[in-house]
Amino acid sequence: MPAALQGELQPTFYRFKLGSFEAASVLDAKAIRDGLHPHYGANASADEVHALARANNIDTQRFEHPNIPTLVNTGKELVLFDTGNGALPREYEQLSKRLPPGNTAARLAAHGYKPEDIDVVVLTHGHPDHIGGLVEGGKPVFPKARYVFGAAEFDFWKKGENVREARKFNRELYVKICLPLAERATFIKPGDTVVPGITAVDVFGHSPGLMAFRVESDGKSFMITADTFTQYVMAVQRPEWHFEMDDDKDKAVATRLRMLDMLSNERMLVASFHMPFPGLGYIEKVAGGYRWTPHSYQMNL
Ligand SMILES: [Zn+2]
Repeated sequence: MPAALQGELQPTFYRFKLGSFEAASVLDAKAIRDGLHPHYGANASADEVHALARANNIDTQRFEHPNIPTLVNTGKELVLFDTGNGALPREYEQLSKRLPPGNTAARLAAHGYKPEDIDVVVLTHGHPDHIGGLVEGGKPVFPKARYVFGAAEFDFWKKGENVREARKFNRELYVKICLPLAERATFIKPGDTVVPGITAVDVFGHSPGLMAFRVESDGKSFMITADTFTQYVMAVQRPEWHFEMDDDKDKAVATRLRMLDMLSNERMLVASFHMPFPGLGYIEKVAGGYRWTPHSYQMNL
């Protein structure tokens, strides 16, 4: 009898050591989106976008868009950065086709972290694929956690002024999901410390108050860049190309350029929410620009 075809099998959890901390990438979900252009490069031509895709051996029409929250165990506290889609596609008709169901809590549990073990949930920004796993059926998914929000981001969604048309429903979601959590939350600005060893970094642009986080332990460090770069080819090799989900396109471009320079100079490990799983790699300076080099075994030695 020939062996049966068993379907795709891909890793969903990756844990590594960072000084005296441990960190892990959790695959929440993966969406396959149509139309690389004009999602990327609306300020360039479709031909240019397709040529870059071909040069990098990726499809010219469809792209994979994973969500990868990061977990950091400092030895004192268990800190989760972002929560994925959660139950949003089940609970909101408008999102049922756009977002696949989130698996962050289930996959954490499968690898030894129960929802009640999470001490701190940090929200890099307020977009649905980051806040969706906070609450399910009106109840907090991580019942013992305190929350850390960026103050600028929280104020923006709370006030609801100058919310662009494409984000009006996002604003409704934010009000419903995040505002009730304020009493268990702290609000930070770039430069502030989340817990010892973890510092917020200004990467405003993709959203009004997007924050990255530098994680340091015993001389080792990595940067959680959240949605600064949302695709490993387009956003890194052509940082000046617009991404339709960036709320302030020009600021997002300026932030990408600043972070590409910094990350390549520091040769620092990067954890990036929408890069191919496990979303870990390095920004490498090459002739004429930058390139994403996936993590191989650097953190395993
Ligand atoms: Zn995102």
